[in-house]
Amino acid sequence: MYLVLLGPPGAGKGTYSPTLTALFKIPVLSLGDILRNEAKCDTKLGRKIENYIKTGELVPDNLIIEIVSNIIDSEEGEGGVIFDGFPRTINQAEKLLEILKQRDLVIDLVLDIFSNDKTITDRLSSRWVCPYCGRAYNMMTAPPKKNMRCDFDDTPLIQREDDNPNVIRRRLKVYKEQSKPILDFYIAKSIPYIRVDSTGTIKKCWEKILNSLFEINIIDKKTYDSYKNTETDRIHKAGRENRR
Ligand code: AMP
Repeated sequence: MYLVLLGPPGAGKGTYSPTLTALFKIPVLSLGDILRNEAKCDTKLGRKIENYIKTGELVPDNLIIEIVSNIIDSEEGEGGVIFDGFPRTINQAEKLLEILKQRDLVIDLVLDIFSNDKTITDRLSSRWVCPYCGRAYNMMTAPPKKNMRCDFDDTPLIQREDDNPNVIRRRLKVYKEQSKPILDFYIAKSIPYIRVDSTGTIKKCWEKILNSLFEINIIDKKTYDSYKNTETDRIHKAGRENRR
């Protein structure tokens, strides 16, 4: 199964992808995580990528498409992938369809998670992340148990460099101009899709996602029961590990 997660930064793609991994038993491909890892490397490419991320601009399409096609062809991607943060331009969206078509594959579902600018800005400005396992905490609504340390591995939490007000504004503008039109592009290609408003609690939003998945018959009771029987902490951990 190939699932595309669309939506602005801070809408919740990274929040729900570990749970979707547990449900569909396919890994998450988070372009943001891959690029942040690459940006840590003291190479010409690493520094270039770091600059795009720091300023809220998109990394050039050719690099992104190369990364994605390599993963689809790898052992990790052969049984399906959840694409988190890809595609982000119409060109990337077209290229993904081509890459899949060449391999006799299709996008099975587009999940568009959205919210309003105020909620998104508040969420991103109060987001702290664990640099070790990638878990995100919201200092207003879901803070860590111990002061500024990850609940799971005790690593001190950090704030992402691009989660500051100026860069958040730029990322939202880039999203509206370049990424938002992708949903209509896929709808015009008759690809199955669902839209979920993530404003409100994580629990409520996950219920809405599940209900929509049932409605369009993309999951059945057996798949759901098998997910329910999996121990929550373990699956969340597995989802995060897949993202690293
Ligand atoms: P994210 O973690 O998804 O918010 O992504 C962080 C940053 O990585 C973005 O602001 C972009 O600079 C870069 N990025 C992530 N995904 C893509 C993509 N599909 N195309 C271009 N740049 C990307």
